[in-house]
Amino acid sequence: MSEAKPSVQARPEAEPSHQDARREASRGNPPETVKTFPGSFIGGACHRNGDAVLPVVNPADGRTFAAVVAADEADMDRAVQVACAAFPGWSELAASKRGEIVGRAARHVEAHLKELIPILTREQGKTLLESRIEAQRFGENIAWFADLADKVHGERVSLPDLTTYGLVVRKPIGVCGAIVPWNFPLTLAANKVAPAIAAGNTVVAKPAGTTPLTTLRFAELLSEGGLPEGVFNVITGSGSVAGEALVTHPLVRKVAFTGSTPVGERIMALCANGVKRVTLELGGSDPMIICDDADLAAAASAASMGRFYNCGQACLAVKRVYVFDSVADEVIEAIAVKARRLKVGPGDAEGTQMGPMHTAAGRAELAGQLERTLAAGGQLLTGGGPPEDLEPADGFFFAPTVVVDPPHDSPMAREEVFGPALPIWRVGDLDEAIERANDSPFGLGSSVWTRDLHRARQAAARIDAGYTWINSRTKVYDELPFGGWKSSGYGKEHGQEALDFYTESKSVVLGSG
Ligand code: NDP
Repeated sequence: MSEAKPSVQARPEAEPSHQDARREASRGNPPETVKTFPGSFIGGACHRNGDAVLPVVNPADGRTFAAVVAADEADMDRAVQVACAAFPGWSELAASKRGEIVGRAARHVEAHLKELIPILTREQGKTLLESRIEAQRFGENIAWFADLADKVHGERVSLPDLTTYGLVVRKPIGVCGAIVPWNFPLTLAANKVAPAIAAGNTVVAKPAGTTPLTTLRFAELLSEGGLPEGVFNVITGSGSVAGEALVTHPLVRKVAFTGSTPVGERIMALCANGVKRVTLELGGSDPMIICDDADLAAAASAASMGRFYNCGQACLAVKRVYVFDSVADEVIEAIAVKARRLKVGPGDAEGTQMGPMHTAAGRAELAGQLERTLAAGGQLLTGGGPPEDLEPADGFFFAPTVVVDPPHDSPMAREEVFGPALPIWRVGDLDEAIERANDSPFGLGSSVWTRDLHRARQAAARIDAGYTWINSRTKVYDELPFGGWKSSGYGKEHGQEALDFYTESKSVVLGSG
């Protein structure tokens, strides 16, 4: 670690620390005692941001239970400068040593995962089970990349002149910005931070303004676990201020972003200035094809799980189902039954299987997409709005919804639907299903259910998407690269390929003198 790293100004004693505020926030205080987190985590310490305060709302009751001071451009500059100062020491460590440090920090996080679970449910809305799964995947992901730190290697290349030979070496890029959305604040951060630091970069991350608390705590945990100061920093704040300040900061050499396609396009355009490296994981509208020879019960179950997990707020959610006509009635009924049976409620309530949507705005957007779709055609089979019998009424709940045969140019077919609503279409054969599946601006994931090897191979070869699951739930693996085609993104996360997006290659010619 570099001796030269600047120390972060100590927080005045009178200020509440992240820990004090977290303790109060997790007690469920009434609004008048909302605790304010002082701000960002920079250089291994809590950093007091400027003045603007962002509320943190519990989606299960619509109440503000905490607040975070937002970073302004000066705070952002501080974070980037600290990350920049930490870069030489971190990148010049032996890769095996770096892997050892990240691995130790990951183990410390894993030992404290239970702390993250209730915070995540409270600020995001997901069920405690979903939070536990996410927290576990987060720890595993960091540990997986820690093991890869000393496996970043180039190659030796023979050259025509036998007295010389070439080497291709890989070097870390520098300070990387990581912009993370609210739907999976832990795993979508790990996808960026873990390969970045394992490869020798330093990071400044910006969580969504609505989900800062889990991120601040895991930054503290990594630091407590021995990650050197300045290697990983977090700044809180809105996308339009803190996010853009990060993307446009001249010392940031790479930006990794997950979120909506329009914001991804804007970030890509901003990164043109300075020719910054960029990885974009954007929207999806993943098709699932169910053939007449499939295990129909398993397929229906995968469709329900794929669509309603995390209240439908996942880039890789199953967002369109195409089912062969001859088995359509059976499959549609099976999915509708599952949708009706799902227990919707606050994420921390006993027995809840689906929590609320994350924001009132997200729920209103979903309701609008559904209304415009049904106005154009299609049959609403179940759901269609907030469940009527649910307490507390102020949460952002939406009942699991199934729509059959809406027009192929309707919003539910053409747009990303980020909530628990699934359109299903009847199709005549595999050719029609693949044509419909590909008729989308997106190309993130896809899946096919069939027992016929020829059909499975056809689908895998012809669907335009970065991932195709065959007779499998749509689960993401650390071992496999993941990234979208078309408007769904650019670059890869996961897999060994992720490291290519956090390193630059250099050709070296070694002559004989
Ligand atoms: P955004 O794309 O607006 O936000 C994602 C992240 O980017 C957040 O951290 C946000 O910060 C930040 N951000 C926003 N604007 C900028 C900017 N100009 N420069 C830098 N960073 C920025 O998504 P939303 O949260 O608004 O969700 C809207 C829709 O996007 C959803 O309904 C869904 O369709 C899609 N989406 C898709 C995701 C996916 O995984 N495919 C994930 C999230 C959203 P902040 O929130 O603080 O403003």
